[in-house]
Amino acid sequence: MIPIAKPIIGEEEIEAVKEVLKSGILTQGKKVKEFEERFSEYVGVKYSIAVSSGTTALITSLLSHNIRKEVITTPFTFISTANSIIFAGGKTVFADINEEFNIDIERINEKITKKTEAILPVHLFGNPCNMKEIMDLVEDHSLILVEDACQAHGAVFENKKVGSFGAGCFSFYPTKNITTGEGGMITTDDEKITEKCRLIRNIGMKSQYEYVYLGYNFRMNEISAAIGIEQLKKIGSFIEKRRKNSLYLTKKLKNVRGIVTPRENKKAFHVYHQYTIRITDEYPISRDQLQQKLKEKGIASKIYYPIPLNKLRLYNSNEKCPNAERFSKEVLSLPIHPSVDEKDLDLILKVIK
Ligand SMILES: *Cc1c(COP(=O)(O)O)cnc(C)c1O
Repeated sequence: MIPIAKPIIGEEEIEAVKEVLKSGILTQGKKVKEFEERFSEYVGVKYSIAVSSGTTALITSLLSHNIRKEVITTPFTFISTANSIIFAGGKTVFADINEEFNIDIERINEKITKKTEAILPVHLFGNPCNMKEIMDLVEDHSLILVEDACQAHGAVFENKKVGSFGAGCFSFYPTKNITTGEGGMITTDDEKITEKCRLIRNIGMKSQYEYVYLGYNFRMNEISAAIGIEQLKKIGSFIEKRRKNSLYLTKKLKNVRGIVTPRENKKAFHVYHQYTIRITDEYPISRDQLQQKLKEKGIASKIYYPIPLNKLRLYNSNEKCPNAERFSKEVLSLPIHPSVDEKDLDLILKVIK
């Protein structure tokens, strides 16, 4: 079976973990600090705060901004994006997506009111949002910007890495472009936000038993950080292979009737966390039938995301997001991770064609 995702763990990661285990320092040691410093350098920010997951990165960064009112986000994302707004004390407002599957600037504009406090765009599937347009809105309305870059490590918009425009939130879950098992990171240039994030991460403790904030335990451990340091050294080659695989599929699928290949913004560098096509009515069989045919040939595929968040019972929103609702019925993600080779891609193409 060709899986939809597969982490790549080498001898370097195994050695690094052994070293941590032998050192006896399993948390809050030098590995976390080193991983933070290397990550800051990679993203191009002053500060990084390592946490326990992408979800806790989002919660921590929103909490650090004291969100109390409305946060505009996309309904076409993993549920943590929206949940974190609620956990931080804010209210979700969903703005529909564009053909790149990212939040649509016009729809954001329509949703901005006096109650709007922040925008939380998601660089979905590794494809950067149009940050020029988003930054213009952020500046015009003096809004807070938190970026969900959980799928977009290394993605660039106009020479700037995503996660460096506002407070960036990253995930190192095993399916992501790099992993630490479980883990997350917040990136920022703001010293005050950094200080607050560090407090929230570590039960609000400034120095021993001096509690200055109501905090959590969202710390990253040394074992995860040691894996992260090694993964970060390899991220360039991982991204290169993902892009190569993705562009190969796009070239061969571009003219297939009923298939819509992923779009790339000319000003952006897409890191293809997912390669997601749309199966429209013009394709001879349904999306679910195609998924079944792929499965019969040993190819895993997945639907990200089958239900837009505005349609979830949990959110019970009455907002209309027609693009998200339509695309959720058409999307299918295909395996393009670094372990997929040209032979696998040709098999995928043969089934689709
Ligand atoms: C993975 C992901 C998260 C959550 O990250 P975890 O590490 O699984 O908590 C949040 N948002 C998006 C868009 C994600 O893909």
